[in-house]
Amino acid sequence: MPLGRQVRERANTCTIPEVEIRRGYRYRLDLTPDQARLAQRTAGCARLVYNLALEQRSMWWRQGHRSTGYAQQCAQLVELKAAYPFLREVPSHPLQQALRDLDRAFRRFFAGTSRYPRYKRRGHHDAFRFPDAAQIRVKGTHARLPKLGWCALRLSRPIRGTIRTATVTWEAGHWYVAFATVAEIPEPVPGSREAVGLDVGVVAAATLSTGQRYAITGWTARLMRRRRRLERSIARKRRGSANQRRERARLARLHARARRRRHDAIHKLTTAVAQNHSLVVVEDLAVAAMTRSARGTAAAPGHHVRAKAGLNREILDRGWGELRRQLAYKCAEHGGRLVAVPARYSSQECAVCGQVAAASRRSQAVFRCVGCGHAAHADVNAATVIRQRGIQLAAAAGRAVDACGAAAGAGL
Ligand SMILES: [Zn+2]
Repeated sequence: MPLGRQVRERANTCTIPEVEIRRGYRYRLDLTPDQARLAQRTAGCARLVYNLALEQRSMWWRQGHRSTGYAQQCAQLVELKAAYPFLREVPSHPLQQALRDLDRAFRRFFAGTSRYPRYKRRGHHDAFRFPDAAQIRVKGTHARLPKLGWCALRLSRPIRGTIRTATVTWEAGHWYVAFATVAEIPEPVPGSREAVGLDVGVVAAATLSTGQRYAITGWTARLMRRRRRLERSIARKRRGSANQRRERARLARLHARARRRRHDAIHKLTTAVAQNHSLVVVEDLAVAAMTRSARGTAAAPGHHVRAKAGLNREILDRGWGELRRQLAYKCAEHGGRLVAVPARYSSQECAVCGQVAAASRRSQAVFRCVGCGHAAHADVNAATVIRQRGIQLAAAAGRAVDACGAAAGAGL
């Protein structure tokens, strides 16, 4: 089959999950007033340390030094605590973690993957992290955190794996704790479950090769209307007034709600897909490259800046990267495999005869092959093409056929 040869020739990417499953569990905290005050102070101190360290690094950076880093700044924490005695009243690990975060931000900057680190502002991403698992315990509906003691949490689902760190965050009026855990990946179970292709479109969210479609944005039409209304109302209010602040808080809560909705939708989709398929095939879209700023650098200014910025926002809103991450660990947990295939021409290729033609893609939604006349919803056709490429790739990899029997089950 000519299609198979083509695909095998250009298919050189294959995603195999890591040996550990890393995942996060996030719960709402019900802190006592004393605990909430301490949490607020800890977040404030972590922010202060971060900002002071950033100021120091910026000075070094302007003087042409790059190599100074985490260890050196960490050693200076003692002096800093002498200058600001209130830093001694909060747990010390989160302050070191703030320095580690800054160090990571600089590494990303030096590697060219992010912008220069910025100062943290009060009320924006208030958070702090406990890195020592030995000091963290979860029992029943309570978690024990250093200095904060036992905190009540809304344990909406059980934690699996070994806890490594705990991050406490303030978001839109509530405290949350997120536990980062690691677990071993179970041995793959040979199964007769089917292979499935997944097409993630900018407009239609996710489409399976089975024809099922999932909306994976958190913004419903109703929430969008409320958002526009709030944005207009904020623009009308006097800058910095109490009224404007109140409306801003409302808008922040609305965004948080949309985020939770999207999170929920992505979890439902990835769980359903991973549970029912032994081979899940996605396109190898370079998320980092697509969502990276379109502005480019001074030496090479970006093209189509505005259009690309719009697309970036769409992709971020659809949570493509998050979807990939969840599929990787859920497939592993269910003994299946996730495979990423090259994305080239998947929207122009016919799933039946393999002919690639731009004219076959009649519109956003309609695919009708100019060669064989095969007609289907454009996203379903693309998902089917993706599925076939994945099966070819898995078969070429050999091992995969024994591991999950997907290629045999698919009848190709
Ligand atoms: Zn065709």
